[in-house]
Amino acid sequence: MTTLLHEQIQMLLDENRDHECEGVGRDKICVRIEAIAELPSRFGDFQIIAFSNTRDHKEHVAIVRGDILGADDVPVRLHSECLTGDVIGSLRCDCRDQLEAALKMIGKMDKGIVLYLRQEGRGIGLTNKIRAYSLQDAGLDTVEANRALGFRDDERDYAVAAHMLMSLKVRSIRLITNNPRKMAQLAELGIVINNRIPHMMEPNEYNRFYLETKAVKSGHWIDLRGRRHLPEQTDRAIIEGMSQEAIEALDG
Ligand SMILES: [Zn+2]
Ligand SMILES: [Zn+2]
Repeated sequence: MTTLLHEQIQMLLDENRDHECEGVGRDKICVRIEAIAELPSRFGDFQIIAFSNTRDHKEHVAIVRGDILGADDVPVRLHSECLTGDVIGSLRCDCRDQLEAALKMIGKMDKGIVLYLRQEGRGIGLTNKIRAYSLQDAGLDTVEANRALGFRDDERDYAVAAHMLMSLKVRSIRLITNNPRKMAQLAELGIVINNRIPHMMEPNEYNRFYLETKAVKSGHWIDLRGRRHLPEQTDRAIIEGMSQEAIEALDG
Protein backbone atom coordinates (compact mmCIF):
# COMPACT_ATOMS: atom_id res chain seq x y z
CA MET A 1 0.00 0.00 0.00
CA THR A 2 1.29 3.44 -0.89
CA THR A 3 0.60 6.22 1.55
CA LEU A 4 0.92 9.97 1.32
CA LEU A 5 4.62 10.57 0.95
CA HIS A 6 6.63 13.09 2.89
CA GLU A 7 6.80 15.45 -0.11
CA GLN A 8 3.04 15.20 -0.69
CA ILE A 9 2.37 15.93 2.96
CA GLN A 10 4.68 18.95 2.86
CA MET A 11 2.98 20.18 -0.32
CA LEU A 12 -0.49 19.87 1.26
CA LEU A 13 0.63 21.69 4.39
CA ASP A 14 2.31 24.49 2.39
CA GLU A 15 -0.75 24.93 0.18
CA ASN A 16 -3.13 25.02 3.12
CA ARG A 17 -1.14 27.43 5.26
CA ASP A 18 -2.63 30.45 3.47
CA HIS A 19 -5.63 28.76 1.89
CA GLU A 20 -8.68 30.93 1.46
CA CYS A 21 -11.63 30.38 -0.83
CA GLU A 22 -15.19 31.57 -1.28
CA GLY A 23 -16.33 28.66 0.87
CA VAL A 24 -18.60 25.70 0.36
CA GLY A 25 -22.36 25.51 0.87
CA ARG A 26 -24.88 27.98 2.23
CA ASP A 27 -22.65 28.90 5.17
CA LYS A 28 -19.58 29.38 2.96
CA ILE A 29 -17.44 27.05 5.02
CA CYS A 30 -13.72 26.93 4.36
CA VAL A 31 -11.37 24.38 5.92
CA ARG A 32 -7.60 24.07 6.08
CA ILE A 33 -5.36 21.07 6.59
CA GLU A 34 -3.31 21.75 9.73
CA ALA A 35 -1.37 18.58 10.53
CA ILE A 36 -0.77 15.10 9.13
CA ALA A 37 0.66 12.03 10.84
CA GLU A 38 0.83 8.24 10.61
CA LEU A 39 -1.91 6.40 12.49
CA PRO A 40 -1.38 2.66 12.80
CA SER A 41 -4.54 1.17 14.30
CA ARG A 42 -6.14 -2.13 15.20
CA PHE A 43 -8.08 -1.77 11.95
CA GLY A 44 -5.04 -1.24 9.74
CA ASP A 45 -2.52 1.45 8.91
CA PHE A 46 -3.88 4.92 8.31
CA GLN A 47 -2.75 8.50 8.24
CA ILE A 48 -4.67 11.10 10.20
CA ILE A 49 -5.22 14.62 8.93
CA ALA A 50 -6.45 17.42 11.18
CA PHE A 51 -8.44 20.33 9.78
CA SER A 52 -9.40 23.75 11.05
CA ASN A 53 -12.44 25.59 9.72
CA THR A 54 -13.83 29.08 9.45
CA ARG A 55 -17.04 28.35 11.35
CA ASP A 56 -16.15 27.13 14.79
CA HIS A 57 -13.33 25.68 16.81
CA LYS A 58 -14.17 22.07 16.02
CA GLU A 59 -11.25 19.98 14.83
CA HIS A 60 -12.53 17.67 12.13
CA VAL A 61 -10.26 14.86 10.97
CA ALA A 62 -9.79 12.63 7.97
CA ILE A 63 -8.55 9.09 8.59
CA VAL A 64 -6.90 8.21 5.33
CA ARG A 65 -5.55 5.04 3.80
CA GLY A 66 -3.47 4.83 0.62
CA ASP A 67 -2.54 7.46 -1.91
CA ILE A 68 -5.77 9.40 -2.27
CA LEU A 69 -4.28 12.58 -3.81
CA GLY A 70 -5.89 13.05 -7.22
CA ALA A 71 -7.45 9.60 -6.98
CA ASP A 72 -10.75 8.45 -8.45
CA ASP A 73 -13.42 6.22 -6.89
CA VAL A 74 -12.06 6.62 -3.35
CA PRO A 75 -14.29 4.83 -0.81
CA VAL A 76 -15.44 7.45 1.72
CA ARG A 77 -17.41 7.15 4.93
CA LEU A 78 -18.80 10.16 6.83
CA HIS A 79 -19.00 9.56 10.56
CA SER A 80 -20.43 11.97 13.11
CA GLU A 81 -18.67 12.01 16.45
CA CYS A 82 -20.40 10.17 19.29
CA LEU A 83 -18.45 10.23 22.54
CA THR A 84 -20.79 7.86 24.33
CA GLY A 85 -20.85 5.33 21.51
CA ASP A 86 -17.45 5.65 19.82
CA VAL A 87 -15.37 5.91 22.99
CA ILE A 88 -17.38 4.44 25.84
CA GLY A 89 -19.21 1.75 23.89
CA SER A 90 -22.71 2.88 24.80
CA LEU A 91 -25.47 0.56 23.65
CA ARG A 92 -27.95 3.40 23.26
CA CYS A 93 -26.82 3.86 19.68
CA ASP A 94 -24.89 1.97 17.03
CA CYS A 95 -22.24 4.59 16.34
CA ARG A 96 -19.29 2.46 17.44
CA ASP A 97 -20.42 -0.49 15.33
CA GLN A 98 -20.77 1.81 12.35
CA LEU A 99 -17.36 3.41 12.86
CA GLU A 100 -15.60 0.09 13.40
CA ALA A 101 -17.29 -1.45 10.35
CA ALA A 102 -16.10 1.46 8.20
CA LEU A 103 -12.53 1.37 9.52
CA LYS A 104 -12.38 -2.42 9.12
CA MET A 105 -13.69 -2.21 5.57
CA ILE A 106 -11.29 0.54 4.53
CA GLY A 107 -8.44 -1.08 6.47
CA LYS A 108 -8.63 -3.99 4.03
CA MET A 109 -8.75 -1.76 0.93
CA ASP A 110 -5.83 -0.13 -0.86
CA LYS A 111 -7.34 3.30 -0.31
CA GLY A 112 -10.18 5.00 1.48
CA ILE A 113 -11.17 7.77 3.86
CA VAL A 114 -13.25 8.11 7.01
CA LEU A 115 -14.21 11.72 7.64
CA TYR A 116 -14.68 11.97 11.38
CA LEU A 117 -16.92 14.99 11.85
CA ARG A 118 -17.07 16.55 15.27
CA GLN A 119 -20.83 16.86 15.39
CA GLU A 120 -21.68 15.21 18.67
CA GLY A 121 -25.28 14.10 18.99
CA ARG A 122 -26.05 14.86 15.39
CA GLY A 123 -24.86 18.42 15.86
CA ILE A 124 -26.79 19.28 19.03
CA GLY A 125 -23.78 18.73 21.29
CA LEU A 126 -23.03 16.26 24.05
CA THR A 127 -25.04 17.98 26.78
CA ASN A 128 -28.20 18.19 24.69
CA LYS A 129 -27.76 14.60 23.62
CA ILE A 130 -27.59 13.52 27.25
CA ARG A 131 -30.69 15.65 27.94
CA ALA A 132 -32.48 13.73 25.20
CA TYR A 133 -31.36 10.43 26.77
CA SER A 134 -32.57 11.70 30.10
CA LEU A 135 -36.00 12.49 28.67
CA GLN A 136 -36.20 8.92 27.49
CA ASP A 137 -35.09 7.57 30.87
CA ALA A 138 -37.84 9.60 32.51
CA GLY A 139 -40.30 7.79 30.29
CA LEU A 140 -41.47 10.95 28.60
CA ASP A 141 -42.75 10.90 25.09
CA THR A 142 -39.79 9.71 23.12
CA VAL A 143 -40.96 11.72 20.13
CA GLU A 144 -39.75 14.74 22.02
CA ALA A 145 -36.43 13.13 22.80
CA ASN A 146 -36.19 11.94 19.25
CA ARG A 147 -36.80 15.43 18.01
CA ALA A 148 -34.21 16.91 20.34
CA LEU A 149 -31.68 14.43 19.04
CA GLY A 150 -32.81 14.56 15.45
CA PHE A 151 -32.79 18.29 14.88
CA ARG A 152 -29.70 19.23 13.05
CA ASP A 153 -28.38 21.11 10.14
CA ASP A 154 -27.18 18.43 7.78
CA GLU A 155 -26.09 20.96 5.22
CA ARG A 156 -23.30 22.15 7.44
CA ASP A 157 -21.79 18.67 7.88
CA TYR A 158 -21.87 18.01 4.20
CA ALA A 159 -20.22 21.34 3.38
CA VAL A 160 -17.37 20.58 5.80
CA ALA A 161 -17.04 17.07 4.37
CA ALA A 162 -17.13 18.30 0.78
CA HIS A 163 -14.39 20.85 1.38
CA MET A 164 -12.27 18.28 3.25
CA LEU A 165 -12.43 16.02 0.21
CA MET A 166 -11.52 18.93 -2.05
CA SER A 167 -8.57 19.80 0.20
CA LEU A 168 -7.39 16.20 -0.17
CA LYS A 169 -7.68 16.56 -3.96
CA VAL A 170 -9.95 13.55 -4.23
CA ARG A 171 -11.37 13.53 -7.76
CA SER A 172 -14.29 11.18 -7.26
CA ILE A 173 -15.63 8.95 -4.51
CA ARG A 174 -17.66 5.86 -3.78
CA LEU A 175 -19.77 6.76 -0.77
CA ILE A 176 -20.12 4.14 1.95
CA THR A 177 -23.75 4.61 2.96
CA ASN A 178 -27.16 3.04 2.97
CA ASN A 179 -28.78 6.39 2.34
CA PRO A 180 -28.96 7.45 -1.30
CA ARG A 181 -30.28 10.90 -0.26
CA LYS A 182 -26.92 11.61 1.33
CA MET A 183 -25.26 11.15 -2.04
CA ALA A 184 -27.44 13.80 -3.63
CA GLN A 185 -26.58 16.31 -0.91
CA LEU A 186 -22.84 15.79 -1.25
CA ALA A 187 -23.11 15.90 -5.04
CA GLU A 188 -24.87 19.26 -4.85
CA LEU A 189 -21.78 20.61 -3.11
CA GLY A 190 -19.58 19.58 -6.01
CA ILE A 191 -18.39 16.11 -5.04
CA VAL A 192 -18.32 13.56 -7.85
CA ILE A 193 -19.86 10.34 -6.57
CA ASN A 194 -19.45 7.41 -8.91
CA ASN A 195 -20.97 4.73 -6.79
CA ARG A 196 -22.40 3.68 -3.47
CA ILE A 197 -20.95 0.98 -1.23
CA PRO A 198 -23.55 -0.48 1.16
CA HIS A 199 -22.53 -0.13 4.78
CA MET A 200 -22.87 -3.59 6.27
CA MET A 201 -22.15 -4.29 9.91
CA GLU A 202 -21.29 -7.70 11.30
CA PRO A 203 -23.86 -9.02 13.76
CA ASN A 204 -22.63 -9.11 17.34
CA GLU A 205 -24.10 -9.38 20.80
CA TYR A 206 -24.49 -5.60 20.97
CA ASN A 207 -26.43 -4.84 17.82
CA ARG A 208 -28.86 -7.70 18.09
CA PHE A 209 -31.69 -5.29 18.87
CA TYR A 210 -31.82 -4.46 15.20
CA LEU A 211 -32.31 -8.09 14.35
CA GLU A 212 -35.20 -8.61 16.71
CA THR A 213 -38.04 -9.07 14.28
CA LYS A 214 -40.86 -7.80 16.45
CA ALA A 215 -39.05 -4.58 17.22
CA VAL A 216 -38.33 -3.89 13.58
CA LYS A 217 -41.91 -4.72 12.56
CA SER A 218 -43.29 -2.16 14.94
CA GLY A 219 -41.11 0.44 13.28
CA HIS A 220 -39.07 1.15 16.40
CA TRP A 221 -35.68 0.04 17.51
CA ILE A 222 -36.35 -1.52 20.85
CA ASP A 223 -33.76 -3.71 22.51
CA LEU A 224 -34.51 -6.81 24.51
CA ARG A 225 -34.69 -4.74 27.68
CA GLY A 226 -37.38 -2.60 26.12
CA ARG A 227 -35.27 0.50 25.52
CA ARG A 228 -35.59 2.37 22.32
CA HIS A 229 -32.44 3.26 20.42
CA LEU A 230 -32.16 6.44 18.45
CA PRO A 231 -30.20 6.79 15.24
CA GLU A 232 -27.34 9.24 15.76
CA GLN A 233 -25.56 8.80 12.48
CA THR A 234 -26.98 10.31 9.33
CA ASP A 235 -27.90 6.93 7.97
CA ARG A 236 -28.85 3.66 9.50
CA ALA A 237 -26.44 0.84 8.98
CA ILE A 238 -27.55 -2.59 7.95
CA ILE A 239 -26.40 -5.69 9.74
CA GLU A 240 -25.48 -8.81 7.82
CA GLY A 241 -28.35 -11.28 8.09
CA MET A 242 -31.13 -8.71 8.28
CA SER A 243 -34.21 -9.58 6.25
CA GLN A 244 -35.31 -7.31 3.41
CA GLU A 245 -38.43 -6.54 5.41
CA ALA A 246 -36.35 -5.44 8.38
CA ILE A 247 -34.14 -3.26 6.20
CA GLU A 248 -37.16 -1.56 4.66
CA ALA A 249 -38.64 -0.95 8.10
CA LEU A 250 -35.54 1.05 9.07
CA ASP A 251 -36.38 3.70 6.51
CA GLY A 252 -39.92 4.14 7.83
ZN1 LIG B 1 -11.50 26.92 1.33
ZN1 LIG C 1 -24.01 7.36 19.10
